[in-house]
Amino acid sequence: MCEALNLSLFSPKKDLCDICESYKAGNVSDIDYKTHRDKKDEARKELAKEIFTEHEVLTMDLQSVLLSPRSNVSPLYYTTKLIVHNFSLYDCKRNWGYCYIWNECEGKLTSNEFSTIIVTALEKLRTQNTTQHNKEIIIYSDGCTYQNRNVVLSNALLNYSMEKKVTIKQKYLEKGHTQMECDSMHLVIERALKNKKINIPVDYVYIAKTDCKKNPYDVQYLYHHFFKDVEHTLEFYKSIRPGKKQVTLQSQT
Ligand SMILES: [Zn+2]
Repeated sequence: MCEALNLSLFSPKKDLCDICESYKAGNVSDIDYKTHRDKKDEARKELAKEIFTEHEVLTMDLQSVLLSPRSNVSPLYYTTKLIVHNFSLYDCKRNWGYCYIWNECEGKLTSNEFSTIIVTALEKLRTQNTTQHNKEIIIYSDGCTYQNRNVVLSNALLNYSMEKKVTIKQKYLEKGHTQMECDSMHLVIERALKNKKINIPVDYVYIAKTDCKKNPYDVQYLYHHFFKDVEHTLEFYKSIRPGKKQVTLQSQT
């Protein structure tokens, strides 16, 4: 019946890769597709390999938008809701998860918010684990510009690197194939949210804290004073755009 009507089950768009799907439709050349697959495999192998080195390996990502209040009671469908964000980092060596949750009144989604969170998480990792000094910290993420690939974050990481004398490397997974360990944290949280009621944003903290029973997540609820204005205080790099021009570090006054 379905075939006769040319119907099929809908595959969620977030699970599909644009390039792979375009290739199937004949809109991407064999060479471009091969390059894409090779990059994907290379990034995956690198991540799998680095977990077994002495270096610290983190993955990080932003969970899709959460809402508050959240309930199955129908009148609540029509009320105005607050948007709640959760940025997660996953320590692949120790299987520890960190969640940073805030609502739209306390912070936005700019490089300042993400830079503050990432540096805070690195410092937490350093203080919780004193044996990791002098090791490299390798951070895997997707290439999302405002979150993970921008000059503000590069300045924040460079500043942290100089202060604590650690080497930090950022690596990006190939677009369309960015599933990471931290995404499984989001799945655990979403599963736990089924049939649960959220009255205020901070309720998400309790859900995230109690979800993962094996290794409970380290969850922090953030207020506006937590976020730093990294953009206007750290200006070592002016740009991280690739180019021929050599980058010279600006000294801080
Ligand atoms: Zn693909």
